[in-house]
Formats: sequence, structure tokens, C-alpha cells
Amino acid sequence: MNILVTGAAGFLGSHLCDRLLAEGHRVFGMDNFVTGDPQNLSHLSGNGKFTFFEHDVSNYINVNEKLDAVLHFASPASPNPASPYGYPNLRIQTMKAGALGTHNCLGVCRAHGARFLLASTSEIYGDPLEHPQRETYWGHVDPIGPRSMYDEAKRFAEALTMSYFYTHKLDTRIVRIFNTFGPRMRVDDGRVAPNFVQQALHSEPLTIFGDGSQTRSFCYVDDLIEGIYRLLLSDEHLPVNLGNGTETSILEFAETINRLTGNRSGLVYQPESRLGNDPERRRPDLTRANSLLGWEPKVDLETGLLRTIDYFRKKMGLA
Ligand code: NAD
Ligand code: UDP
Repeated sequence: MNILVTGAAGFLGSHLCDRLLAEGHRVFGMDNFVTGDPQNLSHLSGNGKFTFFEHDVSNYINVNEKLDAVLHFASPASPNPASPYGYPNLRIQTMKAGALGTHNCLGVCRAHGARFLLASTSEIYGDPLEHPQRETYWGHVDPIGPRSMYDEAKRFAEALTMSYFYTHKLDTRIVRIFNTFGPRMRVDDGRVAPNFVQQALHSEPLTIFGDGSQTRSFCYVDDLIEGIYRLLLSDEHLPVNLGNGTETSILEFAETINRLTGNRSGLVYQPESRLGNDPERRRPDLTRANSLLGWEPKVDLETGLLRTIDYFRKKMGLA
């Protein structure tokens, strides 16, 4: 297939490009580097099956070669207001990437007769009142809250995708991604995995926002990419959760990273840093992913963290 990946210079987008190329597809990567890093794609320079376009997906997208699929991953994705890459600092860009960017990608798919895959998120469930979260849950979201620019853009993107599916019979897919981590996240991304790992490698105390009792379920990137590829090849049009089913508190997560890195600086509690509407609990119900795609995550948390720590050591010039 000829496949366009938006957000190609980001964490997930760059791994996706690698996987699609390894499967023999021709890949067109698109990014405006608002949160991405050109180094995530540097190993692909000279690869005759990869073409890169520096472009903002909020503007009209023109690809002259025939496309068979578009995977829309372009969007800021970190909620941390202390990071320049956090979506609270990129409010309008985040809304435009989710709304206008999705509209432009759907238009490209219509023009090319291509299939579409939307990178949605567990954030569409908001601070969930149902646990674990099934795809049938409508969510608990504040439309004007501190995370609303991300949550509502993604909810609009899902609604627009289903509208193109029903109205234009476009061949669409929606993946709801739960917290995924791994190599190629920015050191200064601000999300909890890169933040804790870089703090630990600097021998600093890890910053716990709130009391650390809030939970997440962390998926290693290789597992997620496998699930996305299977979804792309499937005929499933309704949203599918992908993530890891093992739930951990942020406190346990921090202690694990300190143990694996040998960091003796402990933890520091920063209740004031916790963004409003921060979900208390988050864990995917993976029944649909398992039955529709025959997929389940394989990499346990410690194995994934050790690979990530190794990458960050090198990236930070410590190895
Ligand atoms: P990332 O910040 O590493 O990657 C996002 C990429 O999109 C960056 O390279 C950025 O420069 C690019 N981008 C943003 N706006 C753009 C625009 N207007 N035009 C062109 N490029 C633009 O984040 P990520 O974790 O790789 O996230 C990728 C996608 O997956 C996002 O849509 C995100 O919402 C979704 N997602 C990720 C997670 C996760 O845990 N990593 C969870 C849920 C959803
Ligand atoms: N968090 C934290 N310390 C940090 C960064 C994040 O305690 O240095 C917390 C954050 O408040 C949230 C959880 O870790 O409860 C996961 O945050 P992340 O930014 O990774 O993304 P989210 O899952 O909230 O979208």
C-alpha cells in the first residue's frame, strides 16, 4: 500500500512508519515538528520507500501520488502544562490538529478512495465513572476544562470520522490509545514516563502530582504498534481500545523507575502540579481488541521500562 502517516516525526508516528516500511509498504510521512523531533526519522533518510513532507495538517493536504491509507497521528499529546510540548500550552494547535487536521485527512481519503485510521485516545472517556473503560462508555468530560482542548478535539474527530463512514461510506477505523510509552518520547515531553525516567537518570526526586494514588495502565510501544497494524488490516469500523490491562498507581510507577535506575533521590509530592480533571483511574477493557484482532499486549511493564531507560540514557548522553 501507499500510506500517509501524519505526526510521523513523533513518538508513535515514527514507530508506525518503521513498521509499515518493514511490512513492505511505501510510506509518506507528514509533520510540522510542533512536538516531534526530526531525529526520530533520521534513520529513514535515503530509504527509497519513505518520503517526508513538512506540513501542518490543519492546512489543506495535497499528495500527488495515489494513496491507499491515511493514518492520522498528528496532535500534541502531553497534558503537562510545565512542558512547552504540553497541549495546555498549544491549545489552538491541538484543537486544529484534531478538528481541521482530521477533516483534511478524511478529505484526502475521499479523493484517493483510501482507508482512514484515526489515533483517538482514552481521554475521550475523561475522568471515567465506569471502570475499566469499555468502548460503549460515553465518558465524563468537561467541555471547557483544562484538558478540554485535547479531549473535545478527539471526540469531534471520532464523530467526524463516523460521519464520513456513514455519509460517504468511507472505509474508516478508530483506535482509542491508552497510555503508551517507549523510546523516542521526548526527554522534555512532560508525560509521566519520560518525566520520571529523565528525573531518575539525573538523580533527582521524581515529581508526584497529587498523592500518587491515581492509576494508569502502561502499554509498551511495540505492543501498541502491533495492535494498530492489525486494526488497519481489519474491517472493524467502530472504536477499539488498545493498551495494557495491568493497572498501576503513579506512586508504584515512580518507585519501579527508581528501583530500575538505582535512583536514591526518592520522591517529591507536588499536589499543585496536578492538572484539573486528571483521571483518577484508567484501564482499558481489551475484550474487543482481543476478539476482533486476536491481539493482546506481550511486554510487561519492567521490560518496557528497561528498554526505555536504556534509550533515554543514550539520548541524554549518559551511556
Ligand atoms: P508526539 O507529540 O510524540 O507526536 C505527535 C506528532 O504530531 C509530533 O511529531 C508533532 O510534531 C505532530 N503534529 C502535531 N500537530 C501537527 C500538525 N498540525 N501538523 C503536522 N504535524 C503535527 O505524541 P505521540 O504520543 O506520538 O502521539 C501521537 C498520536 O497518538 C496523537 O494523535 C495522540 O493524541 C495519540 N495518542 C497517544 C497516546 C500515547 O500514550 N502516546 C495516547 C493516546 C493517544
Ligand atoms: N504525573 C506525575 N508526575 C509527573 C507527570 C505526571 O505524577 O511528573 C501524573 C499525572 O498527574 C497523571 C499521571 O501521572 O495523573 C499520568 O500523566 P501523563 O502526563 O503521562 O498523561 P495522562 O495519562 O494524564 O494523559
